[in-house]
Amino acid sequence: MSSTCSEVPTVEECQAAAQVITSDCLKKCVEMQCAGIKINCSSPEIQKNCKDKSSEGIVAMGYVARFDDVPVSCASPWKEINWCEVPSSRECRAKAMVHELAHSCGWHHNQGFGVPGDDGNLPCN
Ligand SMILES: [Zn+2]
Repeated sequence: MSSTCSEVPTVEECQAAAQVITSDCLKKCVEMQCAGIKINCSSPEIQKNCKDKSSEGIVAMGYVARFDDVPVSCASPWKEINWCEVPSSRECRAKAMVHELAHSCGWHHNQGFGVPGDDGNLPCN
């Protein structure tokens, strides 16, 4: 992924991790986002939000700041994500990226489709 942020998976790692997604439209969207989404990090605001979103035992890996009045779907994804740069294994950060990119494609928690961390909690860190 073209980014100066740290703890970001490669495009190949991200697209490989996306193969578990069972919805065609969502999978294609995430694969596209793996290669093209803009990744923000390091600003004090993002780092503060990352801290705020982390609670006991759950570390936020990233988040998508969406505007509720802008419709987002797998056919019309959100163009950027915010990344928390949490040190983690290559496998974990690829899963976390796929999770966040699914959000950018309009996916919500508990919608399934094979997205890692369906309930909002990734089983690694
Ligand atoms: Zn989530």
